[in-house]
Amino acid sequence: MIKVFFVGTGGGAPSKRGLPAFIVRREAFNALLDCGEGTQVTMIRHKLNIMSLKVIAITHLHADHVLGLPALIQTMNMYNRTEKLYILGNNVDKLLKGVFENTYFSPNFEIEYVNEYKDNEISIKPFKTCHVVPSQGYLIEEKDRINIDIERLKKEGISDWRIIRQLKEGKEVRFNGKTLYPDDFLIKRKGIRIAYTGDTSICDNVIKTVKGVDLLMHDSTFLDDINAREYGHSTASDAATVGKEADVKRLALVHISGRYDNDYEIEEAAKKIFSKSFVPEDLSLYILN
Ligand SMILES: [Zn+2]
Ligand SMILES: [Zn+2]
Repeated sequence: MIKVFFVGTGGGAPSKRGLPAFIVRREAFNALLDCGEGTQVTMIRHKLNIMSLKVIAITHLHADHVLGLPALIQTMNMYNRTEKLYILGNNVDKLLKGVFENTYFSPNFEIEYVNEYKDNEISIKPFKTCHVVPSQGYLIEEKDRINIDIERLKKEGISDWRIIRQLKEGKEVRFNGKTLYPDDFLIKRKGIRIAYTGDTSICDNVIKTVKGVDLLMHDSTFLDDINAREYGHSTASDAATVGKEADVKRLALVHISGRYDNDYEIEEAAKKIFSKSFVPEDLSLYILN
C-alpha cells in the first residue's frame, strides 16, 4: 500500500491552497516531492512527522517549489536528526550550500545529493518536463511482488517450508510423485507506480514516461482563459489530455492557481476529456493498493 498526502496543491503564490508539497509513504518510508514555503509549518501542525522523511525530491528551483527546504532542514537539525537525508534535484545542493553558509548553519546529519533514489522496495527517478527553466518530474515505482498462493498450497496438501521456498525461488519441485511448477503457486503483483510532473506545459516526454501509472499528479495551473503554454504550465484540459493519452489510472490536478476558487469548474474541465480526473484538497490523502 502506498499513501499520498497532498500537503500543498496550489502553485505560484499561496492561496487557500499551500505551495507544492506531496508526501509519498510506503510503510516506514517517506519521500517528500517539492517543498514550497510553509511546508514544514503545515506538516508539523498536522502531525506529519518531518523527521521520518528519508528522501526529498525537488522538481526545479522556482521559489514556490523549494523555498521551504532550507527551513525544513534547519528544523530537522534542531530536532537532533541523525539519519542521512537524500536530496534529488538539479542544483539544489548549490542553493542549500549558499543558504547554509549565509545563515551560519551547518547540519549535524549527512545530506547526500543524488540523481535518483533506489532501495529494495521503491525507486524514485527523474524525467524531463517542459517548463521555462530546467525542470524534472519524478516517477516513483514500487518493486513487483511475488506472493505464494496459500489456497493452492492447502489444496495440494503442501506444508513443507522447503518445498514452498523452492517454489518461491522459481524452481520445479517433485512432490508425491508429481512435478510442481512454480508458476502455478506464485501470484505476481505489479508494484504501484506514481508520477509527479512539477511544473510543465503539455509535454511528449511526460506522456511517454507516465504511461499507465496508477496515479499521475500533473500541473493544472490554469483554465482555458489563460495561454498556459506561454508560462510553461498546463491547463486542466492539457493535464486531462496527458492523462488520457498516457492511459493513467487516476489523474490528480495540482499546482492550481489562486485565481480560481471553484474546484468544480476545474474538475469538470478535465473530466470532459478524461473522466478519471480529480482535484485534491490540501491535506487530503489518496491510498493506492
Ligand atoms: Zn510552480
Ligand atoms: Zn516553475
